[in-house]
Amino acid sequence: MYHDIKKKDFQKFSDQIKLIKKDGWSFVDPKKLEHLRKKKIRGKNVILTFDDGFYSNYLIAKKILKKHNIKAIFFIPYNFMMMKNKKNCLYFIKNRLKIKNYKLDQLKKINMNLHDTIDLSKKNHVVGFHTKSHVELSKCKTDKKLYDEIAGPVNNKFKKIISFNKYFSFPFGKINDVSEKSFNIAKTNYKFIFLGIRGENKMNLKNSFIFRDNFTIDYDKKMILSILNGYFDFFYFFKRRKLFKLYSKI
Ligand SMILES: [Zn+2]
Repeated sequence: MYHDIKKKDFQKFSDQIKLIKKDGWSFVDPKKLEHLRKKKIRGKNVILTFDDGFYSNYLIAKKILKKHNIKAIFFIPYNFMMMKNKKNCLYFIKNRLKIKNYKLDQLKKINMNLHDTIDLSKKNHVVGFHTKSHVELSKCKTDKKLYDEIAGPVNNKFKKIISFNKYFSFPFGKINDVSEKSFNIAKTNYKFIFLGIRGENKMNLKNSFIFRDNFTIDYDKKMILSILNGYFDFFYFFKRRKLFKLYSKI
């Protein structure tokens, strides 16, 4: 799981991808997830995802992923995508994405727009839903608000592209945002639910949620290989256990 990547760091990102490949990992086409669930998958496999819908992610798909023939998932907060001016975007980044000290990039745009997401979808990437306004779901006061954030109405064109695969990712990766209610709404409306909690995914299990490893561009070689090989998974044991319990209830 990646987020915004500054243009100056594109080379670092590319080097990270090369390193992951060199360590023997295959980048799996995320559209094959459903298929993989049904059969046992062997070897070292990863799926690449980007959260938050920054324009930098679109450029990465065009400039770097294409070269490596990697398909990824782009999780989009709907309201951010619909923003047309810089001021609103900056407000959203600070107050919704909670990014402190955000610095403008050299790029001409901050957020991906509808056209960009349609283009990604046409190029066989997956576009997934990352809530409407990227609020902390544990703070949604009413059931209606919670439903609206996870599965509320969006414009028809966008609805069409997210309906191809029905992938959803929870914002912030905090375990408290994943309640029985929010999990239930996500499960009813999506095929796969992606979380910000580290862990290995055993695809032969019957669940529909996916653990993810957060990556930043500053991680060095040792850190990346440690994460990929699960050295930090232990710290998330209780969080994962809570999720399995929640899931068994719904
Ligand atoms: Zn996010």
